[in-house]
Amino acid sequence: MSAKPSIAVIGSGVAGLSAAYGLRAHASITLFERDDRVGGHASTVEVEDAGGTLGLDTAFIVFNAPAYPNLTKLFDELGVDSLKLRSGFNFFDLDDGMQYGSEQLGLSEDEVTARYPDGFQNTWREVRRFHEEARRDFLRKRTDLPMGEYLDRGGYSEAFRHGYFILLCTAVWSVPAELIWELPATTVIAFFMAHDEGGLGGREVDWRTVAGGSISYVRKVIAAVDPKVRLNEPVTEIHQDEDGVVVTTAAGTERFDYAVVATHADQARDLLQNPTPAQQQLLEPLRYNASNVELHTDASVLPVDRSQWRPWNYGKVTLDGQLRTYVTYYLNQLHGFTSEQDYFVSPDSPFPIANEKVIKTFHYEHPIIDLAMRNAQQTIYRVNEGTRLKLCGSYFHSKQQYYDQIGSHEAAFSSGMEAAAQLRRELGAT
Ligand SMILES: Cc1cc2nc3c(=O)[nH]c(=O)nc-3n(C[C@H](O)[C@H](O)[C@H](O)COP(=O)(O)OP(=O)(O)OC[C@H]3O[C@@H](n4cnc5c(N)ncnc54)[C@H](O)[C@@H]3O)c2cc1C
Repeated sequence: MSAKPSIAVIGSGVAGLSAAYGLRAHASITLFERDDRVGGHASTVEVEDAGGTLGLDTAFIVFNAPAYPNLTKLFDELGVDSLKLRSGFNFFDLDDGMQYGSEQLGLSEDEVTARYPDGFQNTWREVRRFHEEARRDFLRKRTDLPMGEYLDRGGYSEAFRHGYFILLCTAVWSVPAELIWELPATTVIAFFMAHDEGGLGGREVDWRTVAGGSISYVRKVIAAVDPKVRLNEPVTEIHQDEDGVVVTTAAGTERFDYAVVATHADQARDLLQNPTPAQQQLLEPLRYNASNVELHTDASVLPVDRSQWRPWNYGKVTLDGQLRTYVTYYLNQLHGFTSEQDYFVSPDSPFPIANEKVIKTFHYEHPIIDLAMRNAQQTIYRVNEGTRLKLCGSYFHSKQQYYDQIGSHEAAFSSGMEAAAQLRRELGAT
């Protein structure tokens, strides 16, 4: 019997893990990871608290079965438990004191008029209008433009943009406020339609977290694949030819029959020494945004009334004359545990977080989803046809969920699955 082909998987985020999982029976897999741990954005910090170990997720946290079918199937196959969370969000405007939650958006017009000030009434009406008009425009294919232009066309107010829209989008796509306007309107509206039907802001979506944190599924994938894991080993160059792929690290060069490059697109662009024209054309225009994400216990980032805290908390404040919007995840509610200690995740907090309350700081990068990235989706999977080197990552869409499911854990997982399926086909494996 001939030996199994050797495959280098570069990057151990969900895309790389998914590719490795799909190839586990067909190849000898070496997993290169520049960090000292596997998982990429599946990044859990485990702390001892409440008489046990709490897994605190700091990037990928939530999923739901309808929008994440492939990931859900993996979790079922591996026996990964998930926990339903009590969904909901809280908006607070530190400039004018306005604060409201997702429950208030679900009230009737009469109730809102009777109980809330004009500022909230106006926002409530525009939120309603946006969700009705956006759905209609989407179905009539009138949304093929950047989000900022779409909102201009509809005459949406600054209060709506900064008191609702920007806040939700910052959290969903992990991009700063100034990049929200570049998001393709189609992608944003498709997300809202998929997650909004049962209540504005996704209140009634069956959001879930991985029990014990996402590290729990990462450990199960690694156990199922049993690859040669090479931590702390950044790949510095990749060269492809007709017979295989040469991977360079500080330890030297190694030849593999195939490689799956599961880093971000801009990192892949730097690594590939002789990209094919299709690889170059795909990778060239794709952009990323970097965030500093702090896992901490400093409750001063949220308003004092803790009865208003929700899993997702969106704030708006003017600092030094500049409008800042930000999100804070309240992990106790997201992960559904009870502890006297409050745990938060704050990406790019506009306020300094007390040093002694910071558990760990992470530097994450995330694709900027603009029209260039969405347009690339139409042909993106062709890039992997017939090449020794396959690309994957969250800059690919999920084929099951269409072009607008980009940037999520499902998108990244699905892209790794497709890279593995393409390789299996080329290897003649079923
Ligand atoms: C703050 C935040 C919150 C998020 N929350 C959610 C959420 O709740 N739900 C959701 O669906 N999505 C969420 N996301 C999106 C998340 O990024 C994707 O879900 C997905 O995890 C990205 O996977 P990936 O495999 O493409 O990239 P990554 O997970 O980033 O993996 C890439 C890996 O490649 C490694 N690497 C890079 N260069 C090299 C090199 N030269 N050599 C070796 N290794 C290398 C990196 O170290 C990393 O481990 C969030 C993102 C952020 C930033």
